[in-house]
Amino acid sequence: MSIAGGYHRSVEAAAAAGCDCVQLFTKNNNQWRAKPISDDEARKFREALATKNISFPLSHASYLINLAAPDEVLRKKSIEAMVIELERAAQLGIPHVVVHPGAYTTSTAEQGIAQIMDSLNQILARTHDLPTTILLENTAGQGTTLGRTLEELAAILVGLDTRAHRLGVCIDTCHAFAAGYDLHSEIGFKKFVQDLDRIIGLSRVKAIHLNDSKKPLGSRVDRHEHIGDGELGIDAFRRLLKHPRLRKIPMYLETEKGFDSHGVDWDVVNLTRLRHCLGE
Ligand SMILES: [Zn+2]
Repeated sequence: MSIAGGYHRSVEAAAAAGCDCVQLFTKNNNQWRAKPISDDEARKFREALATKNISFPLSHASYLINLAAPDEVLRKKSIEAMVIELERAAQLGIPHVVVHPGAYTTSTAEQGIAQIMDSLNQILARTHDLPTTILLENTAGQGTTLGRTLEELAAILVGLDTRAHRLGVCIDTCHAFAAGYDLHSEIGFKKFVQDLDRIIGLSRVKAIHLNDSKKPLGSRVDRHEHIGDGELGIDAFRRLLKHPRLRKIPMYLETEKGFDSHGVDWDVVNLTRLRHCLGE
């Protein structure tokens, strides 16, 4: 949800659409700079969460951040920016910040993973007094982006075991499908959840992004589609929502904003489709 007009506006928008939780950027996602959050803005945000009954606020880090960057200037800038992301989330009372692991660009996947671990180590050391945790999001594996496979995410997490309490995972359904995990089929979904538990551990999955996919299985292209209108299809979401071990995890829509052909807010349409799966 947009923070235009103040952080509390994202909470009001979530409540108006019928959400139980909210995800936001705590700064412009395409800029490095951000003006500090005033105490008054933070207070209004916390008050809105309480009065609107919105739980599990989640922050998504800037898209500019690349913790795997072989260029040391860019990586240093990314580390600084991620520290600020965690500070801002803490100020707003947001427990987790989601970040894409990064892209190795001109280096190799192995070097990229080593750089991510080093970056995360520095970030977590510098913010050791903050309660905020980092959630690594799985990716579609476009270009040289890391985090396409559960094994890649696990390699980072295992390597940072001493910081385990401040690291978790966010699973995006569109990214997993585009990465080659067949969440469309019943058998593929079952296997994915089993692998997720075995390789990462379900207790480390703190958020799920619910997005259908415009692109086919294994396409490695990240294009979100409205729930049920894409290659994943509504049955995939029904299975996920009804899964006894997943249903307590907060879930967030990242589908396109706007209105459908009947003039209904797409967030309302997508939420209605999801709740219909649960018989609500
Ligand atoms: Zn996502």
